[in-house]
Amino acid sequence: MARDDIPVKTPGCSLCSGPAVFHDRITGRHLCREHFIADIEDRVAETIRSRNLIIPGDHVLIALSGGKDSTALLMILAHLLPSWDSVRLSAVTIDEGIAGYREDTIRSADRLVAQYGLDHATISFTELFEGTLDAFLRGREPEACSVCGILRRKALNVAAEWGKATKLATGHNLDDEAQSVFMNVLRGDLPRLVRDSGSDSQGRFIPRIKPLMFISEKEIAVYLMLHGAWTELPECPYAVHALRGEVRSILATLESHHPGTMLHLMESKAQIEAQCAGRMEEEPVRHCKECGDPCSGEICQLCKLKKTLRN
Ligand code: SF4
Ligand code: ZN
Repeated sequence: MARDDIPVKTPGCSLCSGPAVFHDRITGRHLCREHFIADIEDRVAETIRSRNLIIPGDHVLIALSGGKDSTALLMILAHLLPSWDSVRLSAVTIDEGIAGYREDTIRSADRLVAQYGLDHATISFTELFEGTLDAFLRGREPEACSVCGILRRKALNVAAEWGKATKLATGHNLDDEAQSVFMNVLRGDLPRLVRDSGSDSQGRFIPRIKPLMFISEKEIAVYLMLHGAWTELPECPYAVHALRGEVRSILATLESHHPGTMLHLMESKAQIEAQCAGRMEEEPVRHCKECGDPCSGEICQLCKLKKTLRN
């Protein structure tokens, strides 16, 4: 018999007799389309429930870049929504002004909200800060992600305030979270390591939630493919400057050789958080002398940054 004629046995789903589409290397389970989708949505629902991320009456504003993670986040939350009491979903897209990159993801975001019939706003850096990220970064490209992060955080807070949202949901996934833990360890930044995303605002801004924090990038890709929602989008041209890029590739290698590495990093973070609970000094809530926004020093990061921006 020729090699090509040897029948290849497709493994069956560990939960039913259907053909498997996904092999979970951590649990060893093979899952068919239906059980894979149900598993992802159940795990997101469990993260939300066990951490009280969404409660009845919430207005959840999704930070929808139009990329893979926020697209999957919107789809999953929209599927879970009917089972929640009086919860409202809407979306906001921030246009940083990154030529050749943002246009595609904004179009993709527009299509998605139209499909789900959600309220959607787009806010640009030009509207809020009188310039595009491209213009601000000329000559300081290596700082791209920190400049972008400070401006985007402000833009999202403004959007949440304008939309009267009670929660701001972002598409950070397990890979992102594990990378952040690793990066904070590499930087020796324990306060940042134990500061939970939601408590980052310490009640001063609208709470941020990350419902996909235990779903891997690979699982998100498969979820989108199974819904026919996978699109190849360009990568941000500034991503090459980020430490995150190197950490991402190291962690991806470790995860592939030792499945479960990223979850173990998250467990380490949880254990450090538990050890530190109540033992780290709470930073006093202060207000920026220039703009009045809550901050930890005299002047907030945004006001400091604004003094250095040229457009
Ligand atoms: Fe902004 Fe950096 Fe993300 Fe590009 S990669 S969108 S510069 S944070
Ligand atoms: Zn300020």
